[in-house]
Amino acid sequence: MTEATYNTLVHRCADLSKEWDLDPKPLGDLWLHQEVVGWKDCHRWFVQNPLSWHKFQEEVFEVMKGGNILGKVFRDVADDRWSAKDIEKAKALGLIAGDSNGNFNPTGQLTREQAAVIMVRLYEVIKEGK
Ligand SMILES: [Zn+2]
Repeated sequence: MTEATYNTLVHRCADLSKEWDLDPKPLGDLWLHQEVVGWKDCHRWFVQNPLSWHKFQEEVFEVMKGGNILGKVFRDVADDRWSAKDIEKAKALGLIAGDSNGNFNPTGQLTREQAAVIMVRLYEVIKEGK
């Protein structure tokens, strides 16, 4: 699922939830096909990544309330997070990237190879005088 597909799905579910007065929060009215029939591996990504499914439901609820998940640099970095501006700037400079689901994982651990890549990217940025 690309980020564009994901965002479209969030907004479509938010629109339908509003239209039909549904509650998208976890244990609410949004169900996976697998949760209804009990066995089907559908939607596969969410069945295999239950935390992403809960995050999806929360994002649908956020969009329903008039919030916006689009335009955020990373889904899991709140605007009021103490490091949000620096994370945004590091992303804009090309020093860091998120995972394939648009998350940064701000409290995750950095590996030695990731540290090496960031240092070289920073060196390139400084060398180019950006
Ligand atoms: Zn299905």
